Amino acid sequence: MSEPSIFTRILNGDIPGEILLDAGRVFVIRDINPQAPLHALVIPKTEEYRDVTELAAGDPGLLAEMVAAAKRIADDHANGEYRLIFNNGASAAQSVFHVHAHVLGNLEENKLVG
Ligand code: 5GP
Repeated sequence: MSEPSIFTRILNGDIPGEILLDAGRVFVIRDINPQAPLHALVIPKTEEYRDVTELAAGDPGLLAEMVAAAKRIADDHANGEYRLIFNNGASAAQSVFHVHAHVLGNLEENKLVG
């Protein structure tokens, strides 16, 4: 059995983290190194899927729950608009191999790219 991911450890209260939403099979935390005024991570509670490719193939309903949670976060912490990013693989900047979506919001007009 491998070690729990950093996200599972936050969910379990083993290390600190700001949980913004706990919604059934998914939860949302604030990113520790924000790249936008709103930067949250939507995470399935299961560690079964390492990236969105595996998740979409294995449980598309859970992927839909992640999108719904992202929208709730954007409604509560931005104006309802949001950017959703999945990094898939180390060469695409993925560093935690427990699938998660970055939710960015309140972006400034001059920072719509990058
Ligand atoms: P990735 O690069 O895998 O797509 O994204 C991982 C994200 O997790 C990064 O944006 C990073 O800042 C965030 N992160 C890593 N460790 C922690 C932590 O201990 N707490 C929180 N809240 N976020 C973390």
